[in-house]
Amino acid sequence: MRVKSLEISGFKSFARKSIFEFDTPISAIVGPNGSGKSNVAEALRFVLGEQSLKSMRGKRTEDLIWNGSKSVERQNRAKVTITFDNRDHTFPIDYNEVAIAREIHRDASSEYFLNDSSVRLKDIIELLSSVNIGASGHHIISQGEADRILNSSPRDRREMIEDALGLKIYHWKIAESERKLIKTEENVRQSESLRREIAPHIKFLKKQVEKIEQARSFRDELASLYNEYLKREEIYLSYTRTTLHKEKNELEAELKTAEEGLARAESMRGVNHQDSKESAELLRVRGELGNMRREHTELGRKQGRLEGMIEYEERRLSAPVESENKMIPVEESKNLAENLYEELGKAERSEDLSYIRGVISAVRARVGQFLSSIRGDAGVAERNDNAKRELEKLRDEHSALSKAQGELENSMNKLDARAKELERVLESKRAETTDAERISFELRSKKQELTLRLSMVHDRNEYFAREEVAFKEEIREGGILIGRLIQDYPNFALDEGSALAEPRSEQEARRKKIERLKIRLEDIMGGDAGSDVVKEYEETVARDEFLAKELEDLKSSAESLRKLMQELNETLDGQFKEGILKINKQFSEFFTLMFGGGSASLQVFYEKKKKRSDTDLNLEEGIPTEEEEEAEEGIEVAISLPHKKIRGLQMLSGGERALTSIALLFAMSQVNPPPFLVLDETDAALDEANSKKYGDMVQNLSKYSQLIVITHNRETMSRAGVIYGITMSADAISKLLSIKFEEATQIAK
Ligand code: ATP
Repeated sequence: MRVKSLEISGFKSFARKSIFEFDTPISAIVGPNGSGKSNVAEALRFVLGEQSLKSMRGKRTEDLIWNGSKSVERQNRAKVTITFDNRDHTFPIDYNEVAIAREIHRDASSEYFLNDSSVRLKDIIELLSSVNIGASGHHIISQGEADRILNSSPRDRREMIEDALGLKIYHWKIAESERKLIKTEENVRQSESLRREIAPHIKFLKKQVEKIEQARSFRDELASLYNEYLKREEIYLSYTRTTLHKEKNELEAELKTAEEGLARAESMRGVNHQDSKESAELLRVRGELGNMRREHTELGRKQGRLEGMIEYEERRLSAPVESENKMIPVEESKNLAENLYEELGKAERSEDLSYIRGVISAVRARVGQFLSSIRGDAGVAERNDNAKRELEKLRDEHSALSKAQGELENSMNKLDARAKELERVLESKRAETTDAERISFELRSKKQELTLRLSMVHDRNEYFAREEVAFKEEIREGGILIGRLIQDYPNFALDEGSALAEPRSEQEARRKKIERLKIRLEDIMGGDAGSDVVKEYEETVARDEFLAKELEDLKSSAESLRKLMQELNETLDGQFKEGILKINKQFSEFFTLMFGGGSASLQVFYEKKKKRSDTDLNLEEGIPTEEEEEAEEGIEVAISLPHKKIRGLQMLSGGERALTSIALLFAMSQVNPPPFLVLDETDAALDEANSKKYGDMVQNLSKYSQLIVITHNRETMSRAGVIYGITMSADAISKLLSIKFEEATQIAK
């Protein structure tokens, strides 16, 4: 790989497009002061991505663009293109020619192109670093910068050497790893913080899920309890329903039968009551008989009295007539009076008119008799006639009475017979009624009993209806808690007989158990702890697991990064030390060559450096309060000149410094040759003898690196294969001309 050409357009003094072809190992650029030679070196820095305006002698981007002259207008853009021959594919890309271009505008915008395709600066840097063209620009030694490495601090020197050794890549890798590590550690912190944040949520959700799981197990338990309970209840209810129905039907039938029987018995009793006309007749007959008997007795008494009176009349007729002043026996008067009193009293109480009349005529007759007896016999004949007539009348009356008595007795006999018949009839009817009453009584009490039993069945039916409602309610309530599982109870295997044989208290115990479980389940379920929580829990756990995994990955990648950094540091350290050894060998050789003796070497040293903390200042005194020590590696250049006792670089002359610098630069380039090396008047301070040596070294170095030298030195020019002359005319534009060596020496002056 080598630089083929450099095209400059609008960059600094190169207002017009100028193309440098670098076909030989050493190309020289010559020209008078201020003609624009260094601008070429800067164009090379520029196109390779240099970001420091200072290193291109500018303050603003605009300073890099042709700024115009009296005769030529300024330009708005500057473009530089460097083309590499990549046939050996040193650049790891599949092009035989690699053209890198950079274009800037006055607005400071910058564009990069790789083979005309727009790319990022990063892509350019990566591509160049792959061929050991580092950012520190150690391969482009600017004018007056040759001894920069001697003037630098030990630490900067180390950096330059590392760059020259191609070790920058390790620094980048380390820095990259460190960036990644910082990012990774930040991610670790973030993941940890996220995990810490979700931890209490997971804990909370876990509890919820545990509750749900517990509820689920309760539900399963409840479902199996319900299955058995409801199945048993169903069997019980169905059996009870049938039994009650049957019982009710039977009782109703029985009641109906009893009621019919009762109605019959009652109607039987009613009939017998209606038949009481016989008893009424009997009553009437008996009454009549009584009357007749009384009449009969009365007739008897009347007969007796008539008989007495007849007897008295007969006696009176037959008795001799007593004297006029016959004494009236007191006894007789008393008897008569008592008799009359009694007879009249009876007549008074009787309503029978004929009887009363009879009594009256009898009393009259007696009183007549008595009067006759006491008045004395006015005429016995009259008295006898009267007596006879009276007797006759009495006898008529008596026979009439006897006749009436006979007729009465006849009637009485007839009535008696009737009464007896009636009594018989009634007796038989009474017997019949007694049977009906007994049956009626029995049926009534049976009816009563049946009604009672029916009402009990009715009560049980009502209770049963409540049980059925409770059963449905139980299914409904259970459904709320265990869902469709509640519908499974009909499939519960259970022997009906043994289920019915079980005491109800067992079922009651089951119900209580269900009730307790329901309460516990409701307690757990609280509000609605449904599948949402489980889903959220699973998602959160998954997220936590993801974070944990991520954290693990991050930690392991952080660990790998640390390990990588350590390895890189070790490699860097190793290669650095190895590189120093190699450089020292070359350095010593070149030095000896330049100075004809003496020695030179790079020495790595560690210095303890006070590190100041910017963050913790003692404000009063304005000095850092916290200091810590840190080891720092640096490079010192140790030299000893032949025949001279030199202590330190600062004691060297300008030429000696230049020689030492050149020796070191060449040594560095030799150990790790860059693809090309630009040396801008590095030889300026050399005398003729040293110029010769310098020329030899340049020639030697060109075996490893392509050299572009800007020089005024004849000796150096003489080593170049191609010489470009740069001139600047009145228009202040740098112009390029390819010239012969002889011309070159002329132009250079
Ligand atoms: P010497 O031999 O003295 O080192 P040189 O050949 O290296 O000189 P340069 O330093 O490359 O010369 O060129 C400097 C010239 O470039 C100056 O004349 C300066 O005016 C010119 N120049 C620098 N920047 C611009 C710009 N932006 N526009 C126009 N001309 C510029």
